[in-house]
Amino acid sequence: MNDDAQTHSDLRELYRELILDHARSPRHFGKLEGATHSADGINPLCGDKLKLYFRLDDDMRITDACFEGSGCAISVASASLLTDTVTGMTRAEATDFFHAVTDSLSGRTESAPIDLGKLRALQGVRQYPSRVKCATLSWHAMNAALNQDKNPATTE
Ligand code: ZN
Repeated sequence: MNDDAQTHSDLRELYRELILDHARSPRHFGKLEGATHSADGINPLCGDKLKLYFRLDDDMRITDACFEGSGCAISVASASLLTDTVTGMTRAEATDFFHAVTDSLSGRTESAPIDLGKLRALQGVRQYPSRVKCATLSWHAMNAALNQDKNPATTE
């Protein structure tokens, strides 16, 4: 194995650990009292059902984000990473992340390049199209919540 391949496999291992860690001990898990925005996300293919909650201040900045529900390791880890990432962002910044993450996972390149940071860990699912829906579910739910869409976000 050359150095480059070594680096890549180390990185994959690191990302796998990050996903497992967030799946085992999800951050921001539970109902958010006083949420200003919320939406359900349903992935019928896998059975993932999550509800995302956000509290936005008068400047449309996300001051708190939580989620509850049940789903596979990928969907839970993704929601955990999402709530971690978007807390403190403005609604516009979070929307940019929604486009960047969903484009990056579905192989599209339309959105402006953005540094995904630890969200890059999710890109491991790209080779498994059915798992892409698990990974993007919470992002679609966040987008629905921020747009105050009353319909649940569904991957189908
Ligand atoms: Zn799933």
